[in-house]
Amino acid sequence: KRRNPGQPEFYQAVEEVAEKLIPFINENPKYLDAKILERMTEPDRTISFRVTWQDDEGNIRVNRGHRVQFNGAIGPYKGGLRFDKSVTLGTLKFLGFEQVLKNSLTTLPMGGAKGGSDFNPKGKSEAEVMRFCQAFMTELYRHIGKDTDVPAGDIGVGGREVSYMYGQYRRIANEFTGVLTGKNLAFGGSNARTEATGYGSVYFGREMLAVRGDDYNGKVAAVSGSGNVAQYTVEKLIQLGAKVVTMSDRGGFLHDPDGIDAEKLAHIQDLKNVQRVSLAEYATKYPNATYTEGARPWSVKVDLAFPSATQNELDDKDAQQLIDNGCILVCEGANMPSTIGAIKIFEKNQIMYGPGKAANAGGVAISGLEMTQNSMRLQWSFEEVDEKLQGIMKKIHAKCQKYGQEDGWVDYVKGANIGGFVKVADAMIAYGVI
Ligand code: NDP
Repeated sequence: KRRNPGQPEFYQAVEEVAEKLIPFINENPKYLDAKILERMTEPDRTISFRVTWQDDEGNIRVNRGHRVQFNGAIGPYKGGLRFDKSVTLGTLKFLGFEQVLKNSLTTLPMGGAKGGSDFNPKGKSEAEVMRFCQAFMTELYRHIGKDTDVPAGDIGVGGREVSYMYGQYRRIANEFTGVLTGKNLAFGGSNARTEATGYGSVYFGREMLAVRGDDYNGKVAAVSGSGNVAQYTVEKLIQLGAKVVTMSDRGGFLHDPDGIDAEKLAHIQDLKNVQRVSLAEYATKYPNATYTEGARPWSVKVDLAFPSATQNELDDKDAQQLIDNGCILVCEGANMPSTIGAIKIFEKNQIMYGPGKAANAGGVAISGLEMTQNSMRLQWSFEEVDEKLQGIMKKIHAKCQKYGQEDGWVDYVKGANIGGFVKVADAMIAYGVI
């Protein structure tokens, strides 16, 4: 903490990992002797830079951009870019640290990174978003490359922003390579990348349920968020027979006791992706639904919970309420949505709890396959990619089980942390003291 002052989310992410890893490291002294945990908690490098751009009124605006290249032991740095007013270096370090283990779990050759800016896209015009993305890439481009570091999207960075940034990279570098993922299908994007994180999370939940001989049929689910991950989590849950009764945004949460079906989801996608307005609008079209301002969806009685908005959106009180209401499974589409206190409650009650670094790894896995397709200058079909995604989520689940099987239940946190750690740690030891 002395070396990283004022980075509470980073301490939280390291604490959660260290708690499960330290006993394993003590049993395997080669990791202790090589000081692997000390080395893995220090990023390879962090880059911070000024982003200067002009708003529609002609005012000059200044933001700060970062790229945290956390660990490149097993492949090119890979991880998303987040544009949100809350972004600090500490936020990106927590996300980058998680990304190292997550990328290793996918079994694909990818190191871990994260980047972004405190730019707030809310209320900005199209032209302002474009100018910001171009200014951001004008600096970032010198630090990335198809074999060096391949960023992607995250909160506040979707297809539109990736396209502006890719256009600027191509213009400056004068090359057409897979330097970003999440690209438009017309210029090197992968089928099923948009859907991959949400679908992958639901596939991971399916594997957890299958361990107990159960499935989604007839289950009632709460989803939080209404962005990329949440939308495709809802879509796949509906397809697999669950009834989704909540979604949320920064302003509050939506409860539709009749269930959000495909048609209602299309309306939500229009509200959030096209009109870019509050979910509160939904209740004006579907009067049985309610929108509760300033609250989160965890008070609703459900069997399954899919936190898919942001970090620390589910605390110990929420966890207790979910369990009191009979919830049997929590599957994280977002990164670190559950606080350490919430995780302790899930563990105490031995419910099925899939942590983000395992459950939401489908997004980066398909980003990895986008890189593969770009290198081959090929584009696989939607069905082909979706099938590979299902296979990868199965493998991640199996790895979590291998390292996390306890008496009568699976500790997925332990399984994911150790399962992700081993490959990176072994590579670092093989490289010697560097
Ligand atoms: P989006 O920007 O598409 O959506 C984010 C959603 O979360 C929006 O509904 C937003 O509300 C809501 N939200 C954001 N911040 C807050 C907050 N502080 N309080 C309450 N709600 C909030 O992002 P994504 O869907 O891509 O990302 C969601 C989560 O999934 C993040 O944790 C991200 O790191 C993680 N993730 C994403 C991956 C991807 O492929 N995109 C891959 C793996 C993990 P509003 O609509 O009001 O803005």
